Amino acid sequence: MLEINQLEKRFGQTQVLTSIDLRVKRGELVFVIGPSGSGKSTMLRCCNRLEEPTSGTILLDGAHVTACHGRALDAMRLKIGMVFQGFHLYPHKTVLANVMLAQVHALGRSKPQAEARAMDMLTRVGLAHKAQAMPGALSGGQQQRVAIARALALDPKVMLFDEPTSALDPELVGSVLAVMKQLRDEGMTMVVVSHEMGFAREAADRVVFMDGGVVVEEGPPDAIFGNPQSDRLRAFLSRLNQSAA
Ligand code: ADP
Ligand code: MG
Repeated sequence: MLEINQLEKRFGQTQVLTSIDLRVKRGELVFVIGPSGSGKSTMLRCCNRLEEPTSGTILLDGAHVTACHGRALDAMRLKIGMVFQGFHLYPHKTVLANVMLAQVHALGRSKPQAEARAMDMLTRVGLAHKAQAMPGALSGGQQQRVAIARALALDPKVMLFDEPTSALDPELVGSVLAVMKQLRDEGMTMVVVSHEMGFAREAADRVVFMDGGVVVEEGPPDAIFGNPQSDRLRAFLSRLNQSAA
């Protein structure tokens, strides 16, 4: 579904990504871990060209993301749902309006169509009863679930999550992970950058470890966490365990 080939990204003289190859099958959940500054966000942002790759190709369901321009690029971007650490909801619009907006303006759906789809997606994330609320009246976990509903309403082929629970109080993390788990069980193709290792063990098909802009190691969660091969991954995991203890 998503194919990254020999992706390179430089900012000026700084090499941030080197020869990244990643293939995500339909319905697969690929989990990406790595220290801060290892290039995880840049890789996700290159997938929908929020960052322009320096070289390499990215394909979504067989179509070249990297060769798109103008309207074709806009259309391609809509097929790639993004959820960030901050939720970026419009504070002066209701939850329902937030989930409708891009459907109307980017996909050209009628308001009744967009509203029906928005209510379906809010139901899916357990927030239909909050449709008329303002985002500020919701908890961070609820706001993030609205952001997920907004992305889903555009019928993406893949969902990319960049540290979706990092800004949340610990007691709110579970509700967001539960929605992500449910999406996975329903067959959504997902790439998740996160430090929630328990979730990775439970829900990931594959874990990719990045360090210094390269993929150092990848494999099933049991192998990555239980039998890490590289010194860099072992060091990363032991630092995580120390900070959790
Ligand atoms: P991660 O998400 O793994 O923490 P990032 O992808 O955010 O890592 O960053 C990778 C590296 O790229 C960092 O060294 C960061 O400073 C650098 N970087 C990210 N964005 C820019 C930018 N717009 N200009 C220059 N350097 C950047
Ligand atoms: Mg990041």
